[in-house]
Amino acid sequence: MYILRLSSIRKKYKLENSKDKVVLNKISLMFPERGLFSINGKSGSGKSTLLNIISMLDEPTSGTIYYRNKNVLKWKDKERNLYRNKDIGIVFQSYHLLENETVIFNIMLPALISGKKLKEAEIEAKNLLKSINFKENLYYQKCKDLSGGEKERVAILRALINDPSIILADEPTGALDTKNSKIVMDLLKEISKTRLVILVSHNQELVREYSDTIIHLKDGLIDNIEEINEIVDVNENKNETKIVYKNGWIKHLSISNFKRRLKRNIVSIISLIICLISSILIIGFDLGSGESIKKRSYHQLDYGVASIYKEINNNIPGSKMSLVQMIRPKIDELYTINNYLKDYYIEPNISTLVTNYPNVIIGEERIDNLGYYPVYSFIEESIDKSLLIKGQFPKEDNLNEVVINKTGYKYLKNKLNIEPLNIDLYLSIKYEHHFYKDDPLNPVITDYFIYEKNIKIMGVVDDFNFLSTPKIYYSYLSMKDYLTDSILVNLSKEENNTISWYERLLTCLDEESLSSYSYQLFLKRSDKRNEIETIINNIPSPYKIESTTYETYKALNDLIGAATLGMSLFLMIALLGTGLILGIISFSSFTEDKKISAILTCLGSNKNSIFKIYLMENLFIGGIASLTSIMIAPLFSLLANTIIKNITTFEGIIKIPYAIFLGVPLLFPLMIFLSTFLVCLLATYIPLFFSKKISPKEELSEE
Ligand code: ADP
Ligand code: MG
Repeated sequence: MYILRLSSIRKKYKLENSKDKVVLNKISLMFPERGLFSINGKSGSGKSTLLNIISMLDEPTSGTIYYRNKNVLKWKDKERNLYRNKDIGIVFQSYHLLENETVIFNIMLPALISGKKLKEAEIEAKNLLKSINFKENLYYQKCKDLSGGEKERVAILRALINDPSIILADEPTGALDTKNSKIVMDLLKEISKTRLVILVSHNQELVREYSDTIIHLKDGLIDNIEEINEIVDVNENKNETKIVYKNGWIKHLSISNFKRRLKRNIVSIISLIICLISSILIIGFDLGSGESIKKRSYHQLDYGVASIYKEINNNIPGSKMSLVQMIRPKIDELYTINNYLKDYYIEPNISTLVTNYPNVIIGEERIDNLGYYPVYSFIEESIDKSLLIKGQFPKEDNLNEVVINKTGYKYLKNKLNIEPLNIDLYLSIKYEHHFYKDDPLNPVITDYFIYEKNIKIMGVVDDFNFLSTPKIYYSYLSMKDYLTDSILVNLSKEENNTISWYERLLTCLDEESLSSYSYQLFLKRSDKRNEIETIINNIPSPYKIESTTYETYKALNDLIGAATLGMSLFLMIALLGTGLILGIISFSSFTEDKKISAILTCLGSNKNSIFKIYLMENLFIGGIASLTSIMIAPLFSLLANTIIKNITTFEGIIKIPYAIFLGVPLLFPLMIFLSTFLVCLLATYIPLFFSKKISPKEELSEE
């Protein structure tokens, strides 16, 4: 019964000068189940090539190999791995141990790859070590600390652990002195009593002393077969087994790789953390900024003040253009859209008559650019009383007492170098009004609206300081009373009727500038502020509502939106960069460890498991980075929020949605983990995919 048969094995290499070099020429050999067979020959005679073909690290150009009567060259990867793991054990001249792992782990590795439990494999490895009286204090030493003879013996035990049928040894004594060579040969001789050992050596003496059969190779041909001892064949059938892949050893190797490359991995972790924290903060900013700006924009005493007008498109005959005209709606028309306006007081717009920029004099000094704006009343609920930051609101509505916004307060303080609260200011408005009549003798009646007041600043209110201008707020209700009481002297005389300014405002033409082309809207209750946006956006055409404060909010919101978009773009680049860094690092790890991968392949590991070692290493990096980022991002957000609040007065502009995101609890942290996982997966997979396939023969060739 022959366990291994080689039939007409040829191996030729194409040389650069396109001549063929025949290394093995129609070699046919049969090997029994046990015995020590030596392949002998000069250097370059093809011994290693023959052994590599038997261990399937190399393919013959032609010919067949039968292992237990099966043609192994027809096997797929899976069966080849199984063959390398269970049926053969390879021993190399330069050992090819995992130098950074312990003696025990190296011996256990093929058993672990085949799916054995760690404890079981460890017991088996120890039994093997004991059987050859290996020094016990070396069991848990790293292989790099062993002597050559010790390493070779470890390599032999590793080849033995899965109880293979064939041991293939390529110059196992090549690097050893005479004493150690004898120890190793004794061991191989012992092994050959129960299984087939094929040995390559050019050491004639040793070969002659130990071999049962010597095969002499010369120029790719079998020169001579020398039988020294007769081998008594024993028939022993081996059970076929399957490899059950377990990940214990993969984890072990990943962890030890991770430790070995600790510094490099820390760099990866830090770059990932920076990237993840920026992502978390930018997403938090995107989510928090809208709400934060909205809340802050309410900090405006006249937030509820708006105007409503009608927009009319006048087509210009013969032109594609049209003229957009703004006009005051009829009060009756507004009743038809009353549904939208039910939260508002509708009043005549007095801003043409009572200009927003009157003359203001404090002491001797003229104050430019101090606005004069109405709020409905200081008493009613139309204003948010909580905005007061200094002084007080007037106890009752009157025109002599006003409040000022923070921007105005600072403006006056800088300008006058005194405390603006409770100072008196003199305010005057003069408006010239023309009333046109059909009477050719007296076509125009001119009246003057003259308004002069000594005013006291009673309080300071907080304001939304983005694009904010200095403003004092007066009571519209008081102004309405004032306008009702003051009359147009000349027009009244002409008409023989007392006509007040208020009446005049109501009855003026909708196209007349006095109408301000609109009605004034005052939100009845300041706590309805959040509905303004909906009303403005939904008011049916041709009506339009204009609110300066809302426009300001929107402008800032758009600005922030653009900024977020910009940041997101940078984020993408950062993510890409981080992925690239990880990819490059994992690629260089993989390249650096090519030899280890080759050894694992020789021990029967499949490609997938080797890939997993690198994936797992990257997942450690990703796991540590994402966990750390999730934990420390809130600290950064707190810091950023505090700084932003101090500079811009926006509160909670970054809001990290850990608890609920898109309505799903804990979705956000999960997404961070998943996206990190994805980055790690790609960073492992893409470089490995593009790197050259590992050829164990080349990586492990004995130079
Ligand atoms: P041995 O182990 O007997 O010293 P090898 O089996 O390693 O010899 O090599 C046999 C011959 O094959 C040598 O002459 C070597 O130069 C040649 N050889 C090995 N690999 C290649 C290759 N990839 N391309 C060309 N020639 C090769
Ligand atoms: Mg060789």
